Amino acid sequence: MADNASQRRMGGQPLFILSEDSQRTSGKDAQDSNISAGKAVSEAVRTTLGPRGMDKMLVSDSGDVVITNDGATILQEMDIEHPAADMIVEVAETQENEVGDGTTTAAILAGQLLAQAEDLFDDDVHATTVVEGYHEAAEIAHDAVDELALEGDVDEELLLAVAESSMTGKGTGGVTAESLARTVVDAVEQVRGDAGVNRDNISIQTQVGASSGATELVEGILVDEEPVNEQMPGDVEDASIALLDVELGVRTGDVDAEYSVDSVDQLTAAMDAEEEEIKGVAQTVADSGADVVFATDDVDGRVASTLADEGVLVFENLSDDDVRGIASATGARRVGALEDLEDEDFGSAERVRTEKYGDEELVFVEGGAAAESVTLFVRGGTEHVVDELERAVRDALDVVTAALDSGGVVPGAGAAEIAIADRVRAESAGVSGRKQLAVEAFADAIDAVPRTLAANAGLDPIDALVDLRSEHEAEGRAGLIVDGQTREVGDPVEHGTVDPAAVKHEAVESATEAATLIARIDDVIAAE
Ligand code: ADP
Ligand code: MG
Repeated sequence: MADNASQRRMGGQPLFILSEDSQRTSGKDAQDSNISAGKAVSEAVRTTLGPRGMDKMLVSDSGDVVITNDGATILQEMDIEHPAADMIVEVAETQENEVGDGTTTAAILAGQLLAQAEDLFDDDVHATTVVEGYHEAAEIAHDAVDELALEGDVDEELLLAVAESSMTGKGTGGVTAESLARTVVDAVEQVRGDAGVNRDNISIQTQVGASSGATELVEGILVDEEPVNEQMPGDVEDASIALLDVELGVRTGDVDAEYSVDSVDQLTAAMDAEEEEIKGVAQTVADSGADVVFATDDVDGRVASTLADEGVLVFENLSDDDVRGIASATGARRVGALEDLEDEDFGSAERVRTEKYGDEELVFVEGGAAAESVTLFVRGGTEHVVDELERAVRDALDVVTAALDSGGVVPGAGAAEIAIADRVRAESAGVSGRKQLAVEAFADAIDAVPRTLAANAGLDPIDALVDLRSEHEAEGRAGLIVDGQTREVGDPVEHGTVDPAAVKHEAVESATEAATLIARIDDVIAAE
């Protein structure tokens, strides 16, 4: 079809500027195809929005299964090839990277902006007019979000509400959602300083095997390693910690050297020399005063056994990431040669202990002296539960951080969108020419969020929209609150359903950007 279209336009003359294999789609065909692709992607995540949103099971080529409700994850896992569709996936990715939540909202908004653009094109509104109108409407929307932000400090109660709202519908379920929110807020409070939240100091570690209610906050870091020798102590208090970039054994250089051994005496001497070296290494480490050693390289079995006798806890082959984490939490400095190890290179922690989970073992480094590092230790019955819980917790950490660090919170449950659309519609009257139609269309696109929340909760979307608007008119704030089996129009702030303002800003921003980018395209030239 694509080639026919170009052929038609070229009056049957072959195109000679493009290779024979490249595909070209132009004008309305290109626009239609891009818009349909974009809409299709946004459609794919629609049913996951909100507390009553459903999950998706995604099966990859190799049979790996992911079960999730998270918009960004769904779109990443889908094998999307259409370039315009891919741009909607990018909207979700940007949203995830910038604020960590609101990915479904952003994708739905982008899809709706495209659907509205299609109608405008059918009414002969030019693409540039649509683009200008959308940008103007987005400005109004940003102002509206700023105005919606709740007055006063973002206190702990509000943070708990933000965390819990972001996790609703993520398979966390009832009681656990509340305790998870508590854990998340505690984690953020721990790493909060004068300069804001140090989000990098919060890690997440998952472990299958207990119920999700067993998820806890560890005041320190967790490393997926086991001691090099079973006889070593599994629990060390007031630990002095060394980070060694050293192979603890016979020096690699010596192993390659050739000995010519002519007699039994010489052989014994060589072995003795090696034995001496091993002893020397072990003794140097033991004498250094280290209670716990994290080595980036191998640790010889004989060194390990001597150190076990000395009561030193040793781990080998640490990853760079883990070493960095331990260094920043405990204040230990990496040392490249044993003879360079000095007092100030040691870090310390209140406690280092190992814990067995099935056939896996984890090291807990708690109460590090250098920095407040905390780890959310996420538990769950199965791999899939833990994975989805990890995504939920990650989102929650991000939204709590966003609420504290950028712009506060706005009412959730569709109330923000109802207010934004209302404001955009009201101000559209002042926009001249056909651009006004695009501004109005933008408001209609925003309505898709409360409409979708309603539809996913099993309500008629049109009736719900009407109810929400009249309540908004009367009370100034109206959301569609879903709580278990009940759904009611009311004040989401009272109910504790709130989202960070940053999530709404970012959704408007990235959806507008992608939709206007796609709407402007009228020619697609694809190499083979
Ligand atoms: P997203 O990927 O966009 O974050 P979610 O599935 O997390 O999608 O849904 C977020 C939306 O659900 C937000 O608009 C939020 O305000 C709303 N929401 C959260 N909790 C409730 C609730 N109890 N009742 C109604 N809406 C809620
Ligand atoms: Mg969410």
